[in-house]
Amino acid sequence: MKKPFSRKYDKGNIEVVTKGDTHHMKPRNPKHKLLLGPGPSNPDPRVLRAMSEPTLGHLDPDFVAIMDETTELLRYVFGTENELTIPISGTGSAGMETALVNSLEPGDKAIICIAGVFGERMADLAGRMDVEVIRVDAPWGKPVDPEDVRLAVKQHPDAKIVAIVHAETSTGVLQPLEEIAQLAHENGMRIVVDAVTSLGGMEVPVDRLGLDFVFSGTQKCLSCPPGLAPITVGERALEFIRNRKTKCPSWYLDLSMISRYWGGERFYHHTAPINMIYALNESLRIIKEEGLEARWARHKLNQKALIAGLEAMGMKLVVDPEYRLPSLTTVYFPEGIEDVPARMKLLNEFGIEIGAGLGDFKGRVWRIGLMGTNSTKPNVLFLLAALEDVLVSMGARVPQGAGLQAASEVYRGA
Ligand SMILES: *Cc1c(COP(=O)(O)O)cnc(C)c1O
Repeated sequence: MKKPFSRKYDKGNIEVVTKGDTHHMKPRNPKHKLLLGPGPSNPDPRVLRAMSEPTLGHLDPDFVAIMDETTELLRYVFGTENELTIPISGTGSAGMETALVNSLEPGDKAIICIAGVFGERMADLAGRMDVEVIRVDAPWGKPVDPEDVRLAVKQHPDAKIVAIVHAETSTGVLQPLEEIAQLAHENGMRIVVDAVTSLGGMEVPVDRLGLDFVFSGTQKCLSCPPGLAPITVGERALEFIRNRKTKCPSWYLDLSMISRYWGGERFYHHTAPINMIYALNESLRIIKEEGLEARWARHKLNQKALIAGLEAMGMKLVVDPEYRLPSLTTVYFPEGIEDVPARMKLLNEFGIEIGAGLGDFKGRVWRIGLMGTNSTKPNVLFLLAALEDVLVSMGARVPQGAGLQAASEVYRGA
């Protein structure tokens, strides 16, 4: 009879070796890699240490104190006074789903702005909820045009929300929110904002624009592993949640229930992912120590140096200067270079991960993330040197040292 696990196989770093009836797993020991793609980014080492602290009960007074501190720090990072500001259990997409299931009722209309993969995901999600989706599309690599939103709002004055991505990670576009938020509010609609790749890397104007539902994720500019989705909910949105006629269609993501656990009552809903909350807490403390403004300026400076380097090497940027995301840069790689082999070389020889292009940009564009802890001068210079080595070795004509020199000049001038 054939025994289970009777074959020796190697799957990634996990090797299973059969010895008689027992099998032994070697430890994983994944190597350190520099994650300069669209996410996850490298967590700060302090965050990983915080995760290994002892697990507490989810109602333990010591844990409750950590919860309270975490929500306070989240308010600081979101720049908001919103009472309901908490981490949702799950990745950024769980934050997206939370915002949509809590902001809509069956039969509602939702205006969804789509300028890439994540806008498309919001439309997909809303479409699964007995909601009529009104699309406002933008071409790949461009922000959504407020005039198109104005038209949609005019044609559908009965829509309940306008949903939009602040930092579209699939294209590297930073979406201006002022006009669109104003349009939504003037017409009595709530605005739902995806701030997954912006929170912790640039200003998210929550209170300044009165944004109603804003969600993020831990794995991008917060420099924490994937696993939590911070969300903040404004007064107008809370009012809706309190008075809705139908129950929220998701039990797990029902904010009216989750808020009873995070609020004073400590009512059990689901067990909080305790050690992930330690991680988030530590990452937020790190942000507070640095200061939000200093952190945003750091992201801008390193983006500027990276762009100067890429352009000096002869590469073209995808996005117009005024809409470039400080945390993610999209660049056309040189013609004649093969996408996957070049990125694998970067990964295997230098331990650097960058992202592939998506959608219209597949096979033409790379996505380079400088998020949170990873947005540093050493990383920018290391990446530019490694890229030059990889591209030259694959036959591209890259002026020697030009990328490094251009980036250094930016730093010297700062
Ligand atoms: C990464 C990302 C998400 C999804 O987050 P996950 O953690 O992968 O679930 C949503 N929106 C944007 C803009 C993102 O960059």
